[in-house]
Amino acid sequence: MNTGTAGATPRRIVILGATGSIGRSTADVIARSPAGMFEVDAVAGGRDAVALARTARALGAKFAAICDETRYSELKAELSGSGIEAAAGANSVVEAARRPADMVVAAIAGAAGVAPTHAAAMEGRVIALANKECLVCAGPPFMRDAERRGARLLPLDSEHNAIFQALGERDVASIEKMTLTASGGPFRCWTREQIDAATPEQALAHPNWSMGAKITVDSAGLMNKGLELIEASYLFGIEAARLDVLVHPQSIVHGLVSFADGTMIAGLSNPDMRVHVAHCLAYPERVATAVPRLDLAAIGALTFEKPDFARFPALRIALDALAAGGAMPTVLNAANEAAVEAFLARRISFADIAVIVAKACEEAARRGEDRAPDTIEDAMAVDHVVRERVAAILAERSRSGMVIK
Ligand code: NAD
Ligand code: MG
Repeated sequence: MNTGTAGATPRRIVILGATGSIGRSTADVIARSPAGMFEVDAVAGGRDAVALARTARALGAKFAAICDETRYSELKAELSGSGIEAAAGANSVVEAARRPADMVVAAIAGAAGVAPTHAAAMEGRVIALANKECLVCAGPPFMRDAERRGARLLPLDSEHNAIFQALGERDVASIEKMTLTASGGPFRCWTREQIDAATPEQALAHPNWSMGAKITVDSAGLMNKGLELIEASYLFGIEAARLDVLVHPQSIVHGLVSFADGTMIAGLSNPDMRVHVAHCLAYPERVATAVPRLDLAAIGALTFEKPDFARFPALRIALDALAAGGAMPTVLNAANEAAVEAFLARRISFADIAVIVAKACEEAARRGEDRAPDTIEDAMAVDHVVRERVAAILAERSRSGMVIK
């Protein structure tokens, strides 16, 4: 891999999910980095042709892929005269992921990121992985294929990035515990009744982080932390018993590693994803960011508390899925994506998200559909079935006006 250091050949980057929150953080880090350090080869996005074209031009990309085929002519028109090649459809996003590059930033939201991120892994790329759903949906086959093809995963999710840095070259087998912190989200001090009745606006008002809608809703119910524990177990190859969560409302300490002698090493920064993006992009070197430096004296106190499973049932459901293993994380991920979408569309309450996810997991276990997916295709097939099942529950509910029990 090109180190991207001054004087060397630029490090060639592909950004999947370039128009999203992580994609914009990536573009910002690259734009502020020394000339010649990075070169963006390709960008890919979901639907917003105008934003994708703007990003492609600003970054000097050669190829821009949009998943929604109906946006092809719009993308082409927006790119006219730029010399940037436009492409559309899910296959074009995979094509972007496969282009020769030193690093692929995997920042598509949800299981939509599985196929393109997997394609990059099959090319043996270095992948800066933000798309946690990729591992929750298809962890074992994804990790196996990445290893076989010599791909390297750099954790971009802040907690995993902090743990990766704290761990250094040490063997995961030699450590006692990994701890991921959670901000506690906007509902940290709310009662269960208030949380259950929360609106999309309330769930989207995250106190510390500015992120895409799906992850913000996940964070409000602590499902995000559950997904991240599953992500950590596959990414680092660590079992659930050595994974822990601490609620830390300041979001300054992102992750901690505990050792047998009683030492803990933590990763700290201001809550700004550009820190973690920069770490991955320049790895193993460092690149300066515009992120304000951490002023611990000004912050004064860092506090930690245990998560409350009674008010945040999604965290328990996710931990149960991790313990059950097999296809259960895949089921959990698919049901959660479908439920969050329904919540954002105001079809269900906030409380219904966890109820629907639990119901989907129970149903899969009852039908004996919990066998671990052997391949990415197996995982996507489970994902598909579960989404259809959730859609049927939602349709039935809107017909009968019944509350989901
Ligand atoms: P976002 O919704 O802001 O952006 C998602 C991006 O994916 C957009 O560019 C969208 O156009 C693109 N996209 C969606 N469907 C696509 C498809 N089928 N093909 C191609 N592109 C598609 O989301 P985000 O907050 O940037 O999060 C992205 C991923 O990173 C998620 O998995 C999230 O959990 C993870 N993550 C985000 C943050 C954060 O601070 N935002 C932090 C840690 C991890
Ligand atoms: Mg995170």
